[in-house]
Amino acid sequence: MPANTHSVTPANNNGLVDAFGRTINYLRVSVTDRCDFRCVYCMAENMSFLPKSEVLTLEELDRLCTAFIEKGVHKLRLTGGEPLVRKNIMGFIRGMSRHLESGALRELAITTNGSQLHRFAEELYDCGVRRINVSLDTLDADKFKHITRWGDLNKVMRGIEAAQKAGLKIKINAVAVKGFNDGEIADLLRWCHSHEYGLTLIETMPMGEIDGDRADQYLPLSQVRQTLSEQFTLEDLSERTGGPARYMLVKETGGKLGFITPMSHNFCEDCNRVRLTCTGQLYMCLGQEGKVDLRAALRNSEGPFALDTAIATAIANKPKGHDFVIDREQTQISVGRHMSMTGG
Ligand code: SAM
Ligand code: SF4
Repeated sequence: MPANTHSVTPANNNGLVDAFGRTINYLRVSVTDRCDFRCVYCMAENMSFLPKSEVLTLEELDRLCTAFIEKGVHKLRLTGGEPLVRKNIMGFIRGMSRHLESGALRELAITTNGSQLHRFAEELYDCGVRRINVSLDTLDADKFKHITRWGDLNKVMRGIEAAQKAGLKIKINAVAVKGFNDGEIADLLRWCHSHEYGLTLIETMPMGEIDGDRADQYLPLSQVRQTLSEQFTLEDLSERTGGPARYMLVKETGGKLGFITPMSHNFCEDCNRVRLTCTGQLYMCLGQEGKVDLRAALRNSEGPFALDTAIATAIANKPKGHDFVIDREQTQISVGRHMSMTGG
């Protein structure tokens, strides 16, 4: 990718404020829909991926992210699909680091399945990335293979170690899956906190067609909390991130535990984020279908006007909240797109 020299100073920021007075300062970008795993709650084994022509080039992604940073976004998270399998993604990340250097961007983070971390951990740190989320639902190699279908736990563990050695702060994300890891969550918690990794548990969300019934996977975190309370003292923390996570302190380990329960509505009022897919569709809410096509605005016009207008329209139309439902009677999935489109 040619070096992009267009940098932004914090003084340019006017702020993106939606119709409900929420300031949007966090952009999550799915840089690819492709992945080297096929987690059972995320994808069908036989997924068809997007043709290349539909996917934004890295230069286009840079232009879009830079436009958001100019407008006041100060946190960027790269996700996917698996962000680290996109060709030359490190070139893109290095390009984004100029916004960290200028101070316009305060944080550049990444959510990864860890499969490529052993290769990229040091370079990520060198580009200014300081915190990463690694998705890991089990510490058992056979079960890991089962849930990811194609993953190798040893490789991920090597990646996590490399990341810690490089100086990256690590948070483990684990999806709570009924009948799969419910009996293991206490062990996962002890393991994470003994290595100084945070742990955030996620409820399964009804997004995209998968092989199987989601109601079979759904494990309410209220139930997990009750079980953990038999072994740990969980003290609610007041900190908020503008997202669906709620945090608690685990007295016995001294570490933090997060719960992401997007099925409940309790976080929409202070939502500070929007999500960009690798095809340039901007979703204003994870749980709603509403989107604005920024790729068209980018590809069909020369100057910044069309893109600026499209972003302004999107933010003005950010919905108040969402309405996920998983139950056995409901035959329709709530949101048709896969999580790998918007990256979670
Ligand atoms: N491939 C990367 C990874 O796995 O971390 C980034 C993309 S992945 C879509 C982001 C997060 O979404 C992961 O932590 C994954 O476990 C979670 N996820 C995927 N599908 C989900 C679903 N249906 N419900 C809840 N979480 C899901
Ligand atoms: Fe890939 Fe992440 Fe989805 Fe698993 S959760 S299939 S690693 S995108």
